[in-house]
Amino acid sequence: MFIKSAQYAISSPRVEQCPAGNLPEFAFIGRSNVGKSSLINMLTGRAGLAKTSATPGKTVLINYFSLKTPSVSPVRGRTQDGGVANDKSLPLRGGSEGSLFFVDLPGYGYAKRGMQQRDELQRMITGYILRREQMMNLFLLIDVRHEPQRIDMEFIEWLGENGVPFSIVFTKADKLSKGKLAANVKHYLAELSKQWEELPPHFITSSETRQGKEELLDYIESILKQNDYQQ
Ligand code: GDP
Repeated sequence: MFIKSAQYAISSPRVEQCPAGNLPEFAFIGRSNVGKSSLINMLTGRAGLAKTSATPGKTVLINYFSLKTPSVSPVRGRTQDGGVANDKSLPLRGGSEGSLFFVDLPGYGYAKRGMQQRDELQRMITGYILRREQMMNLFLLIDVRHEPQRIDMEFIEWLGENGVPFSIVFTKADKLSKGKLAANVKHYLAELSKQWEELPPHFITSSETRQGKEELLDYIESILKQNDYQQ
């Protein structure tokens, strides 16, 4: 998939204020510092689009990026009526003539958040994921260097229970040797196999080397086609 342009569109504090209309959305989520901003920048080819955070866990808004691709038109999709968008949705910066949105969800699992902020964050994330029908797929980012973390495994289980369409994106592949990378991915998938009969799709990426960029963009394109967004 070729991305003609990408720009920041809006930040919403809650799902009710997400953009109106029925443009397809692809959401990204993961623990703080997993490399989410870097991945969004790498995929869109715009270095400063999503900010790479010096202070992990700061973002507590749902950030929208509007992407234009030559071949996508919002003819129809998973939702016919624009999902939960309503008159509370905020006006978009830069107009609404994009083809699709990338949605940057707040990072979870940041220990320094207070309990109240954690609860609010959880409500925002679950509200978005369960109610936003325009969301075609959720990309769950996992730092490939680490052992499977309980918070991620529980989240994956919750996604499965709720029938959320998602895939796994391993990040920071350049930080490991080829052998260690393959071993870690295999280990992670083996852990997942304990919960899942059929594994979700997975991608191995690096924002440094751009590994996985074409695969991810092609995958997004295939989902758009499946949902009749693309002629
Ligand atoms: P976020 O908090 O999930 O948005 O993570 P960021 O994108 O801000 O990345 C966190 C840190 O990891 C930053 O210092 C990035 O430069 C670094 N980082 C992110 N992705 C990669 C990657 O693919 N390779 C390497 N070597 N570093 C990365």
